[in-house]
Amino acid sequence: MGPRSLDDQFVGYRRRLIEQIRRQGISDLEVLQIFDQVPRHIFLPQGVWPRAYEDAPIPIGYGQTASQPSLQALYLTLLKPTPDEKVLEIGTGSGYLTALLGLMADRVYSVERVRELSARARSALDTLTLHNVALLVGDGTIGWRKYAPFDVIVVSAASPSVPQAILEQLADPGRMLIPVGARDLQELVMVRKQDGEVTEEVVADAVTFVPLLGRYAWTPESGEGGQ
Ligand code: SAH
Repeated sequence: MGPRSLDDQFVGYRRRLIEQIRRQGISDLEVLQIFDQVPRHIFLPQGVWPRAYEDAPIPIGYGQTASQPSLQALYLTLLKPTPDEKVLEIGTGSGYLTALLGLMADRVYSVERVRELSARARSALDTLTLHNVALLVGDGTIGWRKYAPFDVIVVSAASPSVPQAILEQLADPGRMLIPVGARDLQELVMVRKQDGEVTEEVVADAVTFVPLLGRYAWTPESGEGGQ
């Protein structure tokens, strides 16, 4: 028997990560299968690879963190993008959630304010030959007007309120998840648009995300330095 390939080894780690996600109450089989298809380590700096398959937030540099996988699984379970839908993601970060979304949706448009993170995400996404993902470096609080409206909007950083510009780019019908609240503690809010009406529902309390920094959220001066 030859030596196991690197990928074989990571399949085992991935299965254990999926077990941890299940233990957090995620039982949607389609979502769990998506996690089985994407190696998380290639989205993370090599220095943190030993922790890549823990169900934990992981530092990715520039004061930012890759979100906890079970929280991302909750996002995917609540939003369930379908193969005909267009998704806007604010806060590409590592690009891991971007990849998961890319496997579920028709197209994913993802905005990140830190150029270096976007570039790193691009090369990881290219490794997986995910060709339905477009990345933009810029302020996501103003959305990505060129490709609007979006059936699904995923905001992965915490905002003091729902930015109006993003809400305007949500399709009707459309759904969006966004952490809203104070700098250090937020509620996860599901925003739905249907027949011209916008409704908001708190779907999880006490979540913590890095701050959304931009024109329609926290200003960089007041927001920088979040965990
Ligand atoms: N889903 C990502 C989350 C990364 S953390 C992951 O798991 O890796 C949130 C990201 O939002 C950070 O990379 C941060 O730089 C980015 N961000 C913060 N404010 C932003 C803004 N106004 N526009 C775009 N990206 C923003």
